[in-house]
Amino acid sequence: MSDCIFCKIAAGTIPAARVYEDEQLIAFKDIAPQRPVHILVIPKKHITSLATVSADDAPLLGQMLAKAHEIALAQGSPAGFRVIINTGEIGQQEVQHLHMHILGGPQPVGPMVQKH
Ligand code: AMP
Ligand code: ZN
Repeated sequence: MSDCIFCKIAAGTIPAARVYEDEQLIAFKDIAPQRPVHILVIPKKHITSLATVSADDAPLLGQMLAKAHEIALAQGSPAGFRVIINTGEIGQQEVQHLHMHILGGPQPVGPMVQKH
């Protein structure tokens, strides 16, 4: 999608602090971190949200979850993390390209309930 900020990050046309990439996914640091470790994991292909995924996307969604621990560990959250996928208006999703937040750090983290 040409006007989607996360598609532009995936394409490399706007910069991001990338921490992981494979054929299907990229992960990068959130520009406004809410916790010491705050990473966003996105599919390279445009999917608007969890509300628009299809059964064909199940392996991709599994890959996003399966990589969370490795990414959290590499970013300095060795003892666990939270994953959050805000979805739609009720979920207060701001960027309309599916993304999974990984929140962590050396200390336990509270729930991400405050919007910035
Ligand atoms: P959400 O409320 O779940 O849609 O979260 C969107 C997240 O994207 C927020 O945490 C923003 O700080 C983050 N964000 C927006 N633009 C960028 C960007 N250019 N690079 C990195 N993170 C971004
Ligand atoms: Zn997109």
